[in-house]
Amino acid sequence: MIRKTRLFTPGPTPLLPAAQFAMAAADIHHRTAEFRALYTRVLAQLKQFVGTETGDIIVLSSSGTGAMEAAVSNLTSPGDRVLVLTAGKFGERWTALAKAFGCEVDVVSAPYGQTFSLDEVKAALKLETRAVFMQATETSTGVRHCTPGVAKLLKDAGSEALLVVDAITGLGTTHLDMDAWGIDVLIGGSQKAVMIPPGLSYLAVGPKAWDRMEATYNPRYYFDLRKERKNARAGESAYTPAVALIAALGAALDWIAGQAATAENPAGSIAEGRKKLVDNAETIAAMTRAAMLALGMTLFAPDAPSSAATAVVPPAGVDSGIFVKELKSRFGAIITNGQGEMKGQIFRIAHLGFFDYMDTIALIGALEQVIVKSLPQLNAQFGTGLIAAQKLYAEASHPKAEAQKCLCGRTDKACSMQNPAAK
Ligand SMILES: *Cc1c(COP(=O)(O)O)cnc(C)c1O
Repeated sequence: MIRKTRLFTPGPTPLLPAAQFAMAAADIHHRTAEFRALYTRVLAQLKQFVGTETGDIIVLSSSGTGAMEAAVSNLTSPGDRVLVLTAGKFGERWTALAKAFGCEVDVVSAPYGQTFSLDEVKAALKLETRAVFMQATETSTGVRHCTPGVAKLLKDAGSEALLVVDAITGLGTTHLDMDAWGIDVLIGGSQKAVMIPPGLSYLAVGPKAWDRMEATYNPRYYFDLRKERKNARAGESAYTPAVALIAALGAALDWIAGQAATAENPAGSIAEGRKKLVDNAETIAAMTRAAMLALGMTLFAPDAPSSAATAVVPPAGVDSGIFVKELKSRFGAIITNGQGEMKGQIFRIAHLGFFDYMDTIALIGALEQVIVKSLPQLNAQFGTGLIAAQKLYAEASHPKAEAQKCLCGRTDKACSMQNPAAK
């Protein structure tokens, strides 16, 4: 059999062909009218993709962590008290970054595979808390945190703290409303839901965060957000931007808009296309969860699963690496093992970006091959996972299930905010 290599990893994710073509054609200089037109257009598109009217978009030539660092260095001063909400490797990165910039860090944590309780967040919030850092979705464990719940809590407490959300795998997999919920900074990365290669990060920065920057004094130079905003308003970047990636991003956002094309509006709409992207991720994530359970696996994040990636626990005594290895060697499918101490315990399958029904069904089919051949002790039958996924697909977007969800998209008790549609 021949094998086609396919990424099922939560970053980098599969590349959109239209974006690859745009990249190859992006042979332009960055101090020209041509680039300024491109950059201005892409910044406006990103603003719609993130879904903010009041925020400014800043694009940086870095992986996602660069934007996380920029958020910390621009928004804090040494000695500032900040609160980090963490339940995995990316949450721990916030703690490390804040400490590196001299902040006094309070931490609310939850065990891997779970989300933190909003009551604990409330108790940990102090009068002097200057910023709260969290993930919309924790990619290392496959968990979705309740971003609207945290935002509401800060509002209700009348807190001065800025809410900074790493939505690097949350954007395009989770409904997020920056302006209405009061998120001050929302961070994204190129190699995730926007389906282009690694190398760009972006931040949507709201008015309260811009005001804060007037008074903070942690060191920053390359990632000086105020300097970038000034340049961005003139259609440029302070230093040589990653021109080809910016062209790719424009093409990807055109494609996302086109997913919502209608006869009256053939170009579609980015806001509507983004919703389709989220619905797509939610459906294929739910298909994957149903298939894994039917095949005798356990979900690592059963109560608060994200639609960015599903973390799966194999039966006791089975190293998760066998799934990573067999899927790659037999089927060319690249999934990821657990990070750090979760290695060998879980495997992760991504749903963010350019994945569809066909990809999902094929991966579940390949997983059945691995389970039946390499784990005969499970007595799994061909088709068990596929039947569960097919049924889920046929019943997806059931209005009743939608009404029971929190605004963050989950149905577990850790979410305080019931969707108003439920009443
Ligand atoms: C991928 C990712 C990042 C950024 O990682 P980089 O390797 O710096 O791009 C940050 N947070 C989350 C939740 C991620 O999934």
